[in-house]
Amino acid sequence: MNPIERLTEHFEKFPGIGPRQARRFVQYLLAESPSYRTNLAESIRVLGSQTSQCKRCFRWFVKNPEKQNFCTICANTNRDQQTLFIVEKDADIDNVERSGFKGLYFVLGGTIPLASEEPERFVRVRELLNRVETDASESTFKEVILGLSATTEGDHTRLILQEKLLPIAEGLRFKISSLGRGLSTGSELEYADPDTIESALKSRQ
Ligand SMILES: [Zn+2]
Repeated sequence: MNPIERLTEHFEKFPGIGPRQARRFVQYLLAESPSYRTNLAESIRVLGSQTSQCKRCFRWFVKNPEKQNFCTICANTNRDQQTLFIVEKDADIDNVERSGFKGLYFVLGGTIPLASEEPERFVRVRELLNRVETDASESTFKEVILGLSATTEGDHTRLILQEKLLPIAEGLRFKISSLGRGLSTGSELEYADPDTIESALKSRQ
């Protein structure tokens, strides 16, 4: 395979990118300067070595020599330790932060496809149940908010998580809530504006 085809194939694997867009990216890079391409390649190379996945919420963060295992949000003891906001992806956290939420997060890593028999294959269900149980023995969550997108897969994922969390919630006495009105049907948290998220949080039930 030639270098153009090889790079096109890499870009095609990116979320939401088709063959035509992938080819445009390669053409763009061909038109750029050699130093730009070198810088880009270097940025990709160090991405793995200078970042780490938080052991608690599973978001990616830039490594900090003192607090290796946890991201700044999880390491911040001034945040509300009793409210856990479950999101699909890292980008959702940035958006929820702008709405003024002060609790903790858990990144599921996606949504559960409608026809799937094994939700564990697609999202961090097991890690979520562990998180809720382990932490509850120390600090007790009072509430777990299911912050999933208002899409068909988001709704499906919410139902499965509710079913799995319910027995633990009953034993440890925490509330399971979902975002309320405000998020329009079909919308993803990542693209919702902070005011909309704030009102969806206020009307959660
Ligand atoms: Zn974290």
